[in-house]
Amino acid sequence: MKDRRALVNGIAKERIEILFGLAESALPKDKDLAGSYVYILNKIRTHYKVNVPPRIKNRICGGCSSLLLPGLNCRVIVVSSGGYLTYRCLACGTDNHIRYRT
Ligand SMILES: [Zn+2]
Repeated sequence: MKDRRALVNGIAKERIEILFGLAESALPKDKDLAGSYVYILNKIRTHYKVNVPPRIKNRICGGCSSLLLPGLNCRVIVVSSGGYLTYRCLACGTDNHIRYRT
């Protein structure tokens, strides 16, 4: 039974990576298509309770679940005193903190 769970999680992670790549390539041209890819990605993540790698998790807005692309739909603020970046979503205004100093 444990092997089946690991197999399903592996397939879910693989599909999350594929959907993230598709959303990244679709974002500059079609925001709705990228949004639908991220919607499906979130459905897979919550249904199978899979941990998403930080490079994917940090690029999805916590407020409106849109894919964040600096210069297009988010602003990057460097907080050097705190050792973190802030990705501020221009659609909903939510701040997503990303630590770069350990
Ligand atoms: Zn947002």
